[in-house]
Amino acid sequence: MNKKNLIGKVLFVALWGVICLNAYAQEKEYPQQERMKPGMSEYWTPQPSIVTPGACQGDGLVSPPSDAIILFDGTDLSAWESARKEGGPARWTIADGIFTVDKKAGDIQTKQKFESYQLHLEWRIPENITGTSQGRGNSGIFMQGKYEIQILDCYNNETYVNGQTGSVYNQTPPLVNAMRKPGEWNVYDIIYAAPVFTADGAYRYPPTVTVIHNGIVLQNHTAILGTTEYIGFPQIQPHGAGPIVLQSHGDPSEPISFRNIWIREL
Ligand code: MG
Repeated sequence: MNKKNLIGKVLFVALWGVICLNAYAQEKEYPQQERMKPGMSEYWTPQPSIVTPGACQGDGLVSPPSDAIILFDGTDLSAWESARKEGGPARWTIADGIFTVDKKAGDIQTKQKFESYQLHLEWRIPENITGTSQGRGNSGIFMQGKYEIQILDCYNNETYVNGQTGSVYNQTPPLVNAMRKPGEWNVYDIIYAAPVFTADGAYRYPPTVTVIHNGIVLQNHTAILGTTEYIGFPQIQPHGAGPIVLQSHGDPSEPISFRNIWIREL
């Protein structure tokens, strides 16, 4: 075999090898990612210890500071609207200076959109509450419409800890359990810092939240990892100012009530 033929054969074999390898790579099958289920991101231990909050004197109602934007003062829901796509008024029930979730009406949200703020909000689990775990007085506050601080009856009601009262839902459990009994008013003071995004949509600074429940810190400047999903991992979705959304949860327990809601933009 002359030198020219030998080089030709070598090149032919090499080319054939590349073609075979390429075909193998195309045919090779990799495992599919397992479909996410709720239990994959929920965990039950360690349960946060119980801290008994100070008792309410009288009705415990403190009027808002002078520079607050009033979101509910006991009279009407004019600062709120339906969170459904079709919009419309917030059709939750108002009586005796408080409003109560109407599960048929869906979530409601503030008409005004916000960035960073201090939010005060009071909520009450009905005295005759029934149900267990997440099916017992479930609601929630979505900051900028995307990040839920959980509201739930966790008084003598265990659930996965990253879904209990004051959790960044399905992410970060509260430091302690500071629940008052069903029938008594709970107070949330939430300090929320909106995220800053890079040009390609990642967090330059993630959103952070401090949650004080009945005077007790549950979240201490906690970094939020992304949207608070029921199933799956947090998602980072670039966004601007957003509403405060109150959740109408689909569980069959009695609906919870709210009063005295105000906000100070930061
Ligand atoms: Mg909830």
